[in-house]
Amino acid sequence: MTVVINMRDGVDERKIKVAARFILEGKLVAFPTETVYGLGADALNASAVRRIFEAKGRPADNPLIVHIAEFSDLERLAREIPREAKLLAKRFWPGPLTMVLPKAEEVPDVTTGGLDTVAVRMPAHPIALALIRASTPIAAPSANISGKPSPTLAEHVVDDFYGRIEAIIDGGETKVGVESTVIDLTSESPILLRPGGLPLEEIERVIGEVKIHPAVIGKMVDVARSPGMKYRHYSPEAQVIVVEGERERVRRKIAQLVEEYRSKGYRVGVMGTEEYGADEFFNLGRSEEEVARNLFKALRELDKRGVDVIIAEGVEERGLGLAVMNRLRKASGYRVIRV
Ligand code: AMP
Ligand code: MG
Repeated sequence: MTVVINMRDGVDERKIKVAARFILEGKLVAFPTETVYGLGADALNASAVRRIFEAKGRPADNPLIVHIAEFSDLERLAREIPREAKLLAKRFWPGPLTMVLPKAEEVPDVTTGGLDTVAVRMPAHPIALALIRASTPIAAPSANISGKPSPTLAEHVVDDFYGRIEAIIDGGETKVGVESTVIDLTSESPILLRPGGLPLEEIERVIGEVKIHPAVIGKMVDVARSPGMKYRHYSPEAQVIVVEGERERVRRKIAQLVEEYRSKGYRVGVMGTEEYGADEFFNLGRSEEEVARNLFKALRELDKRGVDVIIAEGVEERGLGLAVMNRLRKASGYRVIRV
């Protein structure tokens, strides 16, 4: 039985209490954050956290992010808080930034996928913050079946989890649309593990140069540091093909691919800024913010419209574009055409 809790008009403390009680009882509650919807459980309750992995079909070595509402919660979860973490928290929390720190004893191994580090963030969403405040730090990966595109609407969570979790809080569409930026602060110098809703450039303005983990840009590599990187991700049923490069060449290539696939009898969807004569089209918008916000919705929506192939127009890899391209390339299983 899944209760869908309507909070589209904002925080309702009475309903928050109900959802918080679920969390404290070890149950699963999906809730909106500013990035995407999260599938939450009490981060300090090992059996509750185990249920997240079961519900998602998530590999046990792919660690979760723990969501907090006060900076003081961090002192409970992390053994050590380096200076950079304090600076970044001060500047960007609440917000789409996750920091990886040495884990405190109290955090169960299931939560961190067996690592001795813990990933923590403070989400900038009134519903998420109210829920955490009324309960406890909440471990929450994106609320999608493992491997599928992340949810940016409560409907997406309903599609994946109705009947399989206790509650879904509907807070409307998420604002950012891509997950948080993950930065590792446990090595000598900071490392970007996952680009996301907070542009790298903004982080570097506060703590100086950040190394980029090779898996962020390149092909899938087997990595010990951020195990999540090695799994298939964000993939709709349709085959995604990403076309990236100089704008005019990208346009010509997409037009050519649409014609080719259609002539072979495939139903073709395009996500980008133009239709290119495709069977189905999802307009991602022009600004970085719009593209990020629409990305996962477009993948799910084109799937629903029954296309066989999705051709995605690449964007420039700066600002939110770094996160967008990282998600698109993964969604395509690295079927990327550079022109
Ligand atoms: P998701 O919960 O689906 O947004 O994925 C969370 C991602 O955060 C994981 O796939 C990891 O890449 C990263 N992450 C979480 N915890 C850690 C950790 N302790 N060390 C490194 N990366 C982490
Ligand atoms: Mg995820």
